[in-house]
Amino acid sequence: CGIVGYIGFRDAYPIIIKGLHRLEYRGYDSAGIALINNSSHLNIYKKAGKVSNLEEFIGENDQTGHVGMGHTRWATHGAPNDKNSHPHQSGDENLAIIHNGIIENYGPLKEELISRGHTFKSDTDTEVLIHLIEDIQSKANLDLREAVRVALNEVVGAYAIVIMSKDDPNQLIAARKGSPMVIGVGEHEYFVASDATPIVEYTKNVIYLNDNEIAYLKKDELLIKNIDNTVQTPYIQALELKLEM
Ligand code: GLU
Repeated sequence: CGIVGYIGFRDAYPIIIKGLHRLEYRGYDSAGIALINNSSHLNIYKKAGKVSNLEEFIGENDQTGHVGMGHTRWATHGAPNDKNSHPHQSGDENLAIIHNGIIENYGPLKEELISRGHTFKSDTDTEVLIHLIEDIQSKANLDLREAVRVALNEVVGAYAIVIMSKDDPNQLIAARKGSPMVIGVGEHEYFVASDATPIVEYTKNVIYLNDNEIAYLKKDELLIKNIDNTVQTPYIQALELKLEM
């Protein structure tokens, strides 16, 4: 339902929590957040209910890190409970994903992955996608960027996704097909979100990702590719949107 992500020099947590509050108007049943701290540890907190429940649940736990993402879920596959909340992880817990939309062919993909030894912790379509990426990465010995691209070519459905990796802690990967995704372009920082409301107070420069595009984001680097592997030239535009603070 709602997506917000950050990579840069600031603390990611306050930006993401504020962003999740900004996205609450869309409606949701659960919320979750992933952060990579300075020791490359991936902290994931997720909870059914309101964003304020999530904040309470996180309490005094580690909120540090300059890379992170948050999600508000509107359940389509799997009940609205803690375990089905996003982010979801790969089997080795190296990768984390948040996802808006529906992976329509998750059923056959899940069966195939189970036969290859994967076990699943949730009932979501989303968890299947992150296991598929993990599987492709190890099977074909691909780097994460390429594994995401190959996996998205096998997926039928609609998605806006953001992916983080413990092994590659200074990168966010975002992609879309049929669900909106906006990239906020700052100085030494990037934002991603399902609409501009979480971004507008930090930067007015945005890129609307097109269908079938993947954005590879680092603090000082942005590369956009089509899922057929052609490099795209990003079109940065100025946001007109005004927001009450
Ligand atoms: N299909 C996913 C799920 O049920 C994502 C739902 C959403 O867009 O929030 O978890």
